[in-house]
Amino acid sequence: MDDKLSPMMKHYKTVKAQNPDCIIFYRLGDFYEMFFDDAELCSKELDLTLTKKSCGDGQFAPMCGIPYHAYEVYLKRLIDKGYRVAICEQFMQPGQKGLVNREIIRIVTPGTIIEDSILESNQNNYIACIFMERDTIGLVYSDISTGTTKLQEFVGEKSLSKLDDTLAKITPKEVISNKLAAGCQTELLCVMSGTAPSFYPLQDSAFDKTKSTEKIKKHFAVGSLAAIGIDSQKQASRALGALLDYLEITQKSKAESIKKVEVVYDSDSVQIDYNSRRNLELTENMTTRSKKGSLLWVLDKTKTSIGARTIKTFVQEPLCNANKINARLNAVEELYSNSFVLSEIQNILSHVSDIERIASRISYNTVSPFDLNALKDTLRLLPSLRNILSPLKSELIKSACENICDITALSSLIDKSIRYPLDRVNDNIKNGGFINAGYSQELDELRSAKQLGHKWLLEYEAQQKEKTGIKNLKVGYNRVFGYFLEVPRSQIDKVPYEFTERKQTTANYERYVTDELKEMERKILGSEEEALKLEFRLYDEIKSTILAYVSPIISISNAIGLIDTLASFAFVAQKNGYTKPIITNGKSISIKNGRHAVIEQILPTGDFVPNDTLLDNNENRTIIITGPNMGGKSTYLRQVALISLMAHMGSFVPATSAQISVIDKVFTRIGASDDLLFGQSTFMVEMTEVANILNNATENSLLLMDEVGRGTSTYDGLSIAWAVMEDLSKRVKAKTLFATHYHELTTLEETTSGVKNYRVLVSERGDRAEFLHKIVRGSANKSFGIDVAKMAGLPKHVIERAKEVLTKEEIRAQILEDGNDNKKVKENPHSVEILQILQDTDMNTITPLVAFGTLQNLVDKAKS
Ligand code: ATP
Repeated sequence: MDDKLSPMMKHYKTVKAQNPDCIIFYRLGDFYEMFFDDAELCSKELDLTLTKKSCGDGQFAPMCGIPYHAYEVYLKRLIDKGYRVAICEQFMQPGQKGLVNREIIRIVTPGTIIEDSILESNQNNYIACIFMERDTIGLVYSDISTGTTKLQEFVGEKSLSKLDDTLAKITPKEVISNKLAAGCQTELLCVMSGTAPSFYPLQDSAFDKTKSTEKIKKHFAVGSLAAIGIDSQKQASRALGALLDYLEITQKSKAESIKKVEVVYDSDSVQIDYNSRRNLELTENMTTRSKKGSLLWVLDKTKTSIGARTIKTFVQEPLCNANKINARLNAVEELYSNSFVLSEIQNILSHVSDIERIASRISYNTVSPFDLNALKDTLRLLPSLRNILSPLKSELIKSACENICDITALSSLIDKSIRYPLDRVNDNIKNGGFINAGYSQELDELRSAKQLGHKWLLEYEAQQKEKTGIKNLKVGYNRVFGYFLEVPRSQIDKVPYEFTERKQTTANYERYVTDELKEMERKILGSEEEALKLEFRLYDEIKSTILAYVSPIISISNAIGLIDTLASFAFVAQKNGYTKPIITNGKSISIKNGRHAVIEQILPTGDFVPNDTLLDNNENRTIIITGPNMGGKSTYLRQVALISLMAHMGSFVPATSAQISVIDKVFTRIGASDDLLFGQSTFMVEMTEVANILNNATENSLLLMDEVGRGTSTYDGLSIAWAVMEDLSKRVKAKTLFATHYHELTTLEETTSGVKNYRVLVSERGDRAEFLHKIVRGSANKSFGIDVAKMAGLPKHVIERAKEVLTKEEIRAQILEDGNDNKKVKENPHSVEILQILQDTDMNTITPLVAFGTLQNLVDKAKS
């Protein structure tokens, strides 16, 4: 059948065959059409009406379409569902006849979006590329919409889990890899949990060492990998080469926005694994996975999209270097104590546009005149931003201020060349009119020819009305017939001889042309077309001139992102009453009146009960917290981790004072959930997490262990929790907070050095328990589970029955506890005999002598 297809359909089929894994958006006039299987798929996915198109020889292809001017909405929906879309554009010269040229201009994948309307402004859109060889993994991740590109290598047996942690941190939208890495995706917890939508395996040849090196050298115009500082990153370099190649293939142009790469090392930031990130709700809440209710939700009061992305990175990557942390804290302190300066900075920043993404669009030659006006507006704000920042003394602010340089040449070029303001609703760039009057004499002349033409038309209309006496005569225009004179049908008898040609008849009018009108039409349309062509040519020149400014714009936007983030930290610190933590290279974490940054925002003001913490590597390295359900144990655990991490981010903390030693890793074992995706039960998940902690924690790590051992039988659970606690305290020596309902564990304080018991205070009034959320030294012996069940609304009869069972069980436990003797009774070989003797004895008839003999007999048997 293919032989008989129309030429256009043949072309479509060729394009589809070259891109079988993509949906083809095939441009036909004002629509992108989908055909055959793509049409059937898209009609379902996008709720489009399925029609059909003749494709030659009486055959019909299923077809559906979307208007080209609204394609971004549909593109986003397909990309969000994990599809790849190839955009096949049409290229037609004005007046061109015959088969229109069409070719793929771009393959859009989740990690290669540059459309502002599809991208989320407050987060990076990373594409990650992984190259795995034996036990070494090279990773590169890049946000092509901003140019941010980082490279990291993981070596050794833990490389896969480190990769997992990094992917959980950066949440890439797309992952490409060599075959070996793709084969490991089921082991990557975060990938399988939906953090990254899918792996796209590339041919191994894409990672060829020589090819990759050449690609990198060409891209960065350098003679060696050493020139960009990545020569020792062997595997990661191969990933970088493959990524640059992939971007070129999909974008059909060099990845211009990638101007530099940053090498990341494990020791740069606190390592937080996938589970801990989720449990601590750093950037999204666990339930809906949205920002609300997360730490970022509290801390992010940035005013710009650049700042929003920067603060997210700060929250995701708390630093490990005390000097770098202190540099941030000092800058926050300076802004914190200068309220006027802080509010001025935030006021200026609230008018700043996303110039980082505009810079990227300049690199990709997709920048619009609207973007340029927004860029100019932002550049004009910079002197006042610098003025307000320049008296500040902290190093970080000073260096950011130095980067906020003036690019007056750029703003005056935009000022001269682009009409201001432009309105996104009423100004359609396609129709031109965005180049400023006065910028090009030639353009001005063509435009005035057009304007003169329009003036002539008005005069001509008036003349003809007068000449013919037809009052309702009008000059009109449409795209098919051009300019015409329109006469009501009732008056056509007045039409003179010069109205040479009748062009069109409508229900009420006749339309004519004259030789003069034809001549003027040629002039007007000619100048219009010329003006439009010239306008786009001038715009191309402007775009290539401003390419030279991409690097300074990126430096300015980095500085803006930093200032905005520091200002946000300072603002939140003022608003929420935080204090500056003291960062030490010592061993202890000491917090006075610490609060949970998120929960205190949700509770009514003042309701959150603050608590102290002392953790070190010595006498206070393992804290066991017992107390009632709903008492606040989990909240306390998380609060200590959040305060510590906030300090490592460079933020002030919710406490009256805090001294925080630098930590290397945070681990959490909190909550229990089945992981059906991995075919693991609740208990298996719990134990896997505990194993991970025992294997990877160091004495500089902070561990949160909430109810370890809960998922199995009481004695199994207790024994495991006991052994884990002992190991953590004696061997690992990490700072550990251990919340538990196994009250038996509190005896560890007497036997194991470094263990300290704490409990949650409860006030019992009659049969009502009130949880005070106050953590104090000592151990609890009750969990008040039934009280909490009652609060939760369990039926009265169930509560009553639970109380009965509890009483019985407590008596039994008491007997067992008192009952080493009881145990011995059970274990004594004469116990049945002893019981029998006692039962046979009649106290009413027994003589003292026989009684003494019986007693002697019983004692002998009991002791034997
Ligand atoms: P369980 O043992 O049942 O898991 P828990 O002791 O871990 O309970 P949390 O979940 O930490 O208790 O806290 C229960 C609720 O108590 C929280 O949702 C919060 O509303 C409140 N709460 C916890 N800590 C405090 C505090 N310090 N001040 C005020 N309210 C608090």
